[in-house]
Amino acid sequence: MRKKTIEDYAELVYDLQKEKEKVHTNDVAAALNINPASVTEIFQKLSEEGYINYEKYIGATLTEKGKRIAKKTRKRHDTLTKFLLLLGIDEKTADEDACEMEHILHKDTMDAVIKFVEVVNQCKVTPFWLERLKKYVQTGKLDKCPDELVKICIDHSKKTKLKN
Ligand code: MN
Repeated sequence: MRKKTIEDYAELVYDLQKEKEKVHTNDVAAALNINPASVTEIFQKLSEEGYINYEKYIGATLTEKGKRIAKKTRKRHDTLTKFLLLLGIDEKTADEDACEMEHILHKDTMDAVIKFVEVVNQCKVTPFWLERLKKYVQTGKLDKCPDELVKICIDHSKKTKLKN
């Protein structure tokens, strides 16, 4: 598994701060199932680099810099989860994979995913092709695209002439 980064810790502290103002090493240790002593080290490093304000025994809060990176990571995570759910991936896998992908995608790829989710959500109903894809992902059975839809797509692409 990928080693946790500053982005991961910032995101976690951000989420934990919704429950309580100051986040303790024990909270992070419990969430990640690791030793509180190693969280102390992580908190010291995050504090040195200006992502959190940390006082031993009192706890940690995100700085403005920490909040920025946490919000950005959280937003990537949420959008990627939505994207994977649209593809028909189950919730647990979508959440876990989103938390990996959020750190490694190029900005252009991430922006395209954001736009993909936006375009799909712009439709009041789930687009037909997406239902088809979802069914294919979940059952392995790919339905034939109905002729009337092929016709609509051909007519539309003649009009818009977008490059592939
Ligand atoms: Mn995440």
